[in-house]
Amino acid sequence: MALSYQSTRGGQSGVTASQAILQGLAEDGGLFMPTEIPKLDISLEKLASMTYQETAYEVMKLFLTDFTEDELKACIAKAYDSKFDTEEIAPLAKAGGAYFLELYHGNTIAFKDMALSILPHLMTTAAKKNQAEKEIVILTATSGDTGKAAMAGFADVPGTRIIVFYPKDGVSAIQELQMRTQKGDNTAVVAIHGNFDDAQTGVKKLFGDKALAEEMAGKGFQFSSANSINIGRLVPQVVYYVYAYARLLEGGEIAEGEEINVVVPTGNFGNILAAYFAKRMGLPVKTLICASNDNKVLYDFFTTGTYDRKREFILTNSPSMDILISSNLERLIYLSTGCDAQANAALMKELAEQGSYTVTEEMRAFMADFKGGYATEQENAAAIKELFDSTGYLIDTHTGVAAAVYGKYKRESADSTKTVIASTASPYKFSHSVMEAIAGEKAAEGPDEFGVVDALSRLSGVAVPKAVEEIRHAEIRHSRECTVDGMKETVKNILGI
Ligand SMILES: *Cc1c(COP(=O)(O)O)cnc(C)c1O
Repeated sequence: MALSYQSTRGGQSGVTASQAILQGLAEDGGLFMPTEIPKLDISLEKLASMTYQETAYEVMKLFLTDFTEDELKACIAKAYDSKFDTEEIAPLAKAGGAYFLELYHGNTIAFKDMALSILPHLMTTAAKKNQAEKEIVILTATSGDTGKAAMAGFADVPGTRIIVFYPKDGVSAIQELQMRTQKGDNTAVVAIHGNFDDAQTGVKKLFGDKALAEEMAGKGFQFSSANSINIGRLVPQVVYYVYAYARLLEGGEIAEGEEINVVVPTGNFGNILAAYFAKRMGLPVKTLICASNDNKVLYDFFTTGTYDRKREFILTNSPSMDILISSNLERLIYLSTGCDAQANAALMKELAEQGSYTVTEEMRAFMADFKGGYATEQENAAAIKELFDSTGYLIDTHTGVAAAVYGKYKRESADSTKTVIASTASPYKFSHSVMEAIAGEKAAEGPDEFGVVDALSRLSGVAVPKAVEEIRHAEIRHSRECTVDGMKETVKNILGI
């Protein structure tokens, strides 16, 4: 059955999956949603014997209904190959009374690789299917990980260019080096003088700039997005929740049909929304625990029903979650109104103009499967240390937020449901903060970042990943900076228009 996509704000409907991927954001500023969330049409028992690639096909074919079997399978084969350092692609590790779903075994050692390894293939296939002749310009705002993962995917892909904006002082040293050393003639990296929300709002504005779109079209360019506002990011992320459940079943950790909980360290609300999609597809998931850092706008939302971005933006040691405007929440809001695009658009207008909105009791009831939690920097560090000291298992500072929130949840709720924690980055991406958590401030004071990397490896016994070795001596290729107001000029400059 063919699925079609529509904007959460009502301005576009009847869009095919490939068109939605190509376009990224809907014309009215809304996000594309399928007219319904499809049900898995294969048993959990069958899924338990499947590889990651086979599982990916079973899940993605239900959403991307205008891709042929051959097209989709080719995209999957090209994405989930030896770029990943394990054949399992997303292994599960049992430690400290939970299952850590390691989503950082790809090229750039963060979970963004799970979707961004396949997005370029989906995008170029979509361009062919729709006879799109313009060069695709991927415009991306990053809180540190999306930028590198997207560039790794799109570097030197014919017919595409990619421009990444990151907050100048808002990413880790390794994240910044990863981006500034990126190769590929079609890549550009810009540090903006602002935070992630500034970058994301600026990028969304450029998407909505009709004059710019016309000027670009005249020169043979069209924009698309590699952020999780693109449905082509979200769909591949559903796969690993289904895969994790299947691995638990195969390993005899759970019985068929047994419900599990999922904890996701959250920023833009993309990863946890994918877990929710998996639940709606029929995966036995009970509670979705949304873990925030000190920027706890989502915790406040789930506990009060009011989303309020009017607060101080706090820089934390889990920078990829330093976000006050979680774009993908719009998709859940839309669903919670019974897919009433007008009601959703009104709330998003309130958010843009007044900085906050409050949902109805009915909408809150619809979201009852979500539970918000947050962890301070101290709680995060304590959770990383506790897990490392008691089991030898090392996690990064984002996964640390999730582990700390899960610990609090378990104590308060006495819920003993088996739980999967999304482990979103390699500890080496945040070596300094991880070292400080497990060995104290002094130990993290290296002569440079790589001194800390090596010390962390000696202490933890975990090998330094290839992605970090590669940038140790790599040449800096990108030094552009701009102000928030200068984003449009910068894009035009890069494109030479
Ligand atoms: C992007 C990111 C997150 C947040 O994921 P969202 O889908 O934006 O909620 C968490 N941890 C890491 C390491 C990330 O890169």
